[in-house]
Amino acid sequence: MFNLSGIISSSSKETKQVKVLILGSGPAGLSAALYAARAELAPVVLTGMELGGQAALTHTIENYPGFPDGVGGQELGELFQKQAERFGAKVEFDTAQSVDLSQRPFKITADNAVYFSDSLIVGTGARPNHLDIPGETEFTGKGVSYCATCDGWFFKNKKVIVVGGGDSALEEGLFLTRFATSVTIVHRRESLRAGKVLQNRAFTDPKVSFVWNSALAEIKGDGVVKSVKVNNTKTGETSEIETDGVFIFIGHTPNTQMFAGQLDMDDAGYVRSNMMMETNVPGVFVAGEVADSHFRQVITSAGMGAAAAIQVTHFLEKASEHA
Ligand code: NAP
Repeated sequence: MFNLSGIISSSSKETKQVKVLILGSGPAGLSAALYAARAELAPVVLTGMELGGQAALTHTIENYPGFPDGVGGQELGELFQKQAERFGAKVEFDTAQSVDLSQRPFKITADNAVYFSDSLIVGTGARPNHLDIPGETEFTGKGVSYCATCDGWFFKNKKVIVVGGGDSALEEGLFLTRFATSVTIVHRRESLRAGKVLQNRAFTDPKVSFVWNSALAEIKGDGVVKSVKVNNTKTGETSEIETDGVFIFIGHTPNTQMFAGQLDMDDAGYVRSNMMMETNVPGVFVAGEVADSHFRQVITSAGMGAAAAIQVTHFLEKASEHA
């Protein structure tokens, strides 16, 4: 807090003491909350800006066990929350702004309160990457989107482009066929990173087509998106494709800025942890995409959340023995 109003608002915030604070309400955070609640640690979850995390933005999740017909991402998040709350977890619609992990209890300053917590589980997830090309920022919300579930409906009977070649690009592209007349997937290489099931679905969908070896150079429009300029990555040729929308699915960046200088991270900003979900700071554990650039599944994030909460339980038991 650097300005006077910040100091006043920070000092006037309610102070809360908790045993376990969990940052993030995605599958990792809410699974951690369930396990910590069942260990009678009365965990508090700060939801962050996205209740349910990225999973809640997924229209249908088909690979979370126990739901043979799939389950809505938002619905699954609500079920996670309900189950954790049943055992005493508290979910606060609040976002952490800064942390002080230099001593225990850790100090976490959120928008609405200041928390002092004996332990911390970081499940702050990741956010979608941007292409950083001309027009992208200008047309965000005016044809450029990072979430088909959120914005697909606006493209009823329109043409859209999807950028990327991973599971997200194909899954979201296939979802967009419900609304759009055509979905053109622009990928920088000529083979996809996505799994075979999604590839087969995309290749056989009459509304889906591919533009290979191509990278978007610019998004153009007039108030709303009208076209994209595309560079062929092999020949260097430039072409223009008319479109009403551009959906970008080119990977993610972990939400770890507020831990810089306190938690060890890799070059991409993912928090380093061991199999016990421990970080370099005793008492701070991680779970989910914030520490996982590889698996990034709802089930793996949920598993990491459960593991982190189990380890928190052991940590607090030991800490109280030595107190
Ligand atoms: P991803 O697997 O990292 O794929 C990102 C895609 O974007 C890649 O095809 C990459 O191209 C491309 N890309 C990256 N930077 C780019 C740039 N600057 N310009 C153009 N293209 C760029 O990311 P994801 O699809 O979001 O998936 C993330 C993880 O979540 C994966 O592990 C995935 O399996 C998982 N996931 C699973 C499901 C599911 O199981 N149903 C659904 C969604 C996501 P290259 O291929 O050339 O690198």
